[in-house]
Amino acid sequence: MKYIGAHVSASGGVENAPLNAHNIGARAFGLFTKNQKRWTGKPLDEKTIRAFKENCEKYDFQPFQILPHDSYLINLGHPEKEGLEKSRAAFLDEMQRCEQLGLDRLNFHPGSHLNKTDEETCLKTIAESVNMALDKTRGVTAVIENTAGQGTNLGYTFEQIRFIMDHIEDMDRVGVCIDTAHAYSAGYEIKSAEGFENTFSLFDEVIGFRFLRGMHINDSKKAHGSRVDRHDQIGDGTLGSELFIRIMKDPRFDNIPIILETPDENKWAEEIAFLYASLE
Ligand SMILES: [Zn+2]
Ligand SMILES: [Zn+2]
Repeated sequence: MKYIGAHVSASGGVENAPLNAHNIGARAFGLFTKNQKRWTGKPLDEKTIRAFKENCEKYDFQPFQILPHDSYLINLGHPEKEGLEKSRAAFLDEMQRCEQLGLDRLNFHPGSHLNKTDEETCLKTIAESVNMALDKTRGVTAVIENTAGQGTNLGYTFEQIRFIMDHIEDMDRVGVCIDTAHAYSAGYEIKSAEGFENTFSLFDEVIGFRFLRGMHINDSKKAHGSRVDRHDQIGDGTLGSELFIRIMKDPRFDNIPIILETPDENKWAEEIAFLYASLE
């Protein structure tokens, strides 16, 4: 089964996210469980947690169809003590929010070295940060998202992601999310049928499909290998719509949340319908 959705708004409370997803015909959704531009969020109260769970049940969303995303401020590989401590505390809070909401995974961008440390040290710091959060939580998988490699962001190659995974103690609670726009900008040729096959067999070899816990399906405004992260609507960008239809028809992408993070939310319903229509 394919579970397609979008990263929907949770404004007014996380309990609105499943409703917003339902309204666009989504069968999966992404969300922020707090304001993604702030370090701290209001703790979730019992009423909100109950309402979220009730709405998930009402609109038929199970945890495996939901891919929460952490705050953009967090850098789990931060080269400086203060920034690292702040990031680790915020990430633990995000993991605990997922735990409270009964969610089973949290998507995050690995981290950046900020030109103040080497890549390997940064990757090890990221793994250590994840270990610390996993130690203090139960039932939530940390899902590493590949990046475009913009600036000093790491996690733009499968090998870097694997390196982080190899330093995580509980392999049952680590996963990966592949963002198509990021992969293409990072230099993976996923646009042609052949490039798609080669990239995902490399993915399987280096990381393994069993770790794939979600996808972000975005077209890209930027060229292959540009290392710039700019999403575009499906079919409007440098990737084109064929790639997305290929994903729809490939059983390796079954039973995980497949999330649109395309810029114009007014087009999500249409994009979801277009993707499901490709299966008919
Ligand atoms: Zn993404
Ligand atoms: Zn992105």
